[in-house]
Amino acid sequence: MIADSFGRIHDYLRISLTDNCNFRCFYCMPEEEYDFTPASRLMQTEEIIKLAKVFVDQGVKKIRLTGGEPLVRKDAAAIISALGKLPVELVITTNGTRIAEMLPTLKEAGIKTINISLDTLQPEKFMLITRRDVFHQVRSNIELLLQEKITVKINMVVMKGLNDNEIKDFINWTKHNPIQIRFIEFMPFSGNKWTSNKMFSLQEILTKVEKDFTVLPVEGAPHDTAKHFMIPGHEGSFAIISTMTAPFCSTCNRMRLTADGKLKNCLFSNGETDLLTALRNGEEVLPLIKANIWAKKKELGGQLISHFEKLDAEAINNRSMITIGG
Ligand code: SAM
Ligand code: SF4
Repeated sequence: MIADSFGRIHDYLRISLTDNCNFRCFYCMPEEEYDFTPASRLMQTEEIIKLAKVFVDQGVKKIRLTGGEPLVRKDAAAIISALGKLPVELVITTNGTRIAEMLPTLKEAGIKTINISLDTLQPEKFMLITRRDVFHQVRSNIELLLQEKITVKINMVVMKGLNDNEIKDFINWTKHNPIQIRFIEFMPFSGNKWTSNKMFSLQEILTKVEKDFTVLPVEGAPHDTAKHFMIPGHEGSFAIISTMTAPFCSTCNRMRLTADGKLKNCLFSNGETDLLTALRNGEEVLPLIKANIWAKKKELGGQLISHFEKLDAEAINNRSMITIGG
């Protein structure tokens, strides 16, 4: 088992397949011109599988594929098929554009839950956020997944003044659809224009929903990062991911492998361990993994962000979401 010095067992691995993406969400990409990592510096299919097996042998039970956009990688299907053969729960977070063509692969690999990012239900605002005009494609792919009875979770990053006025519309969407909306607090990364006054907090989200609906809390799974809620009479449900105002570090079980093969023990940690170079040099990676996780800080990568109102996003020395893998 892989444990840290606070006794937290780590059995959930998030693998970023690429830092490349067919969207340009302003809150996720660095502000300056960003060069995507060249393919040769990314983990190759075989390397991903080899590393994943090391983690699975150490008790990892769940692997999430993310990015960048995991499904833009040319060999995404081969990677998904190979990982699908490992004894783990395989899940994926995607912007939803490539679902239709990838559906047979996703189903064959046994993927039963898909998280799709959708921050607005308005096509023009979608264009403003992602800088791509594919709202209807994403919406129809969500319908396709629902027809296929695949569990759909919608990730919506709530940003004050931009889409907080759509919270009610998202909740209405759950009335006749078995989807889960996951409202996410906007997080700061180097260059993503985060300011605390753009953040819409757990409490603000809840207050807004409670104005129009009866909200009941629901018990979550032990390592859940989300706080879950239901609304009587709604087929779907909603959850809030409160990284900023109510972090969930005490039960954290997650590790992140970046697309260039670096292990990060926390989204906010600025230290990383280069597993890919070690693997290519024929070195043992397990001791490196264990040391990296053992060194994990108690909360938020050791960054003092408990007073988020006073936080300077530029002072957070970290890769942006697209380069870490969300
Ligand atoms: N491209 C895929 C997608 O959009 O779902 C997977 C990668 S994306 C980095 C994973 C998740 O991180 C998305 O749901 C996205 O909305 C979220 N995300 C990115 N930047 C964020 C930020 N600054 N604060 C909160 N969530 C963020
Ligand atoms: Fe791409 Fe996802 Fe980031 Fe948007 S949130 S830029 S879709 S990686």
